[in-house]
Amino acid sequence: MGGRIELIKAFHECHNFGTAENRQQAERDVASAYRSLTPEECRTLAQLAVEQRNEEILSHLACLQAGSLAGAHLELAKTGVLYPPVIFHRADDEAASFLIRQLENGTAENINLCLLALAWCDTVHVLDAFQRWKAAPPAWVASLHVPPHDYADSAGWELTDAGLRRGLTLGHCYPLVPPDHPDAAVGPVRVNDPSESSCGFCGRRMTALIEFDLTHEMLAFMEIPGTRLRIETCDVCTCYGTVFSQADCSGGAFWHPANKRPAYLPDDAHDWEHPKEHALLISRRGRSCMESADRNMPISFSQIGGHPSWEQDAEYPRCPCCQKKMVFLAQLSNHDYDRYAEGIYYVFFCRACLVAATNYQQT
Ligand SMILES: [Zn+2]
Ligand SMILES: [Zn+2]
Repeated sequence: MGGRIELIKAFHECHNFGTAENRQQAERDVASAYRSLTPEECRTLAQLAVEQRNEEILSHLACLQAGSLAGAHLELAKTGVLYPPVIFHRADDEAASFLIRQLENGTAENINLCLLALAWCDTVHVLDAFQRWKAAPPAWVASLHVPPHDYADSAGWELTDAGLRRGLTLGHCYPLVPPDHPDAAVGPVRVNDPSESSCGFCGRRMTALIEFDLTHEMLAFMEIPGTRLRIETCDVCTCYGTVFSQADCSGGAFWHPANKRPAYLPDDAHDWEHPKEHALLISRRGRSCMESADRNMPISFSQIGGHPSWEQDAEYPRCPCCQKKMVFLAQLSNHDYDRYAEGIYYVFFCRACLVAATNYQQT
């Protein structure tokens, strides 16, 4: 039906929804319209978005209909449409090679954007180029804050010492929904469970941001052996730095000796409210891992698995035991249980060392 495309176009052209409720309803409607586009409608909309260089429609297609921009990337690269970088998810060899050539022959207009787009392409050409630039950094690398291969984490992977791709995200995604949601499942996860231990920095009562029942079939995709994985943090201190904990996969969670006190901690945090206890449950209905890859999607962001929705630059902690980047397990968006709140807590894990980490970002 053309109705869906009209609804989508109208949503992106609307700049004033009146009330917050109207806006939320419009967001739910447009997300649902994107998800139910037919392949034919996807092609029509993608063509329109490429012609108009409409970054909003391009990014919504990339996230809510993953793969629907296939075949369009070379043209996007040639016309300099590289933003938001997620639109280059699964771009083909031709588009990736074009961007690599631009960097190597000095014609790239924006080196930073070019590298961010390449990170999403995920072709062997990108692996080769990142490896090549790591071994012999070209002159333009001097203008960057991090080496080119470190851009990989913006797309959820890293380049290993052997020059291979190592994913930093899980292969499935389940949203976390309010307990009264029709798809809510009791059992597999608990969020914001009060702990009996206290923060090693500020003494505040710790919170188990998330606890997984590892024996539950819905969580088998996490491939973490054990019975219960409980990830505790200080909801205040982790807003100012990464908090590590040692897990034992049978429900234990312990302050990690490698924790380093953040440079700044607020001294008036005792009257901060603790995160709302057991505010969300896992949804029985999974969603595409890509939906959350861009913070501007019209969705709720709390979830298990999938891509993190970074409010700022990607920030995968390194495991203090093995020094490898940790895998993203879950995120909790304050907005999902307090409509006036913002900010997202991110949860990571190292399977080899059973070390967990949490950090936080807000705009
Ligand atoms: Zn604390
Ligand atoms: Zn480790």
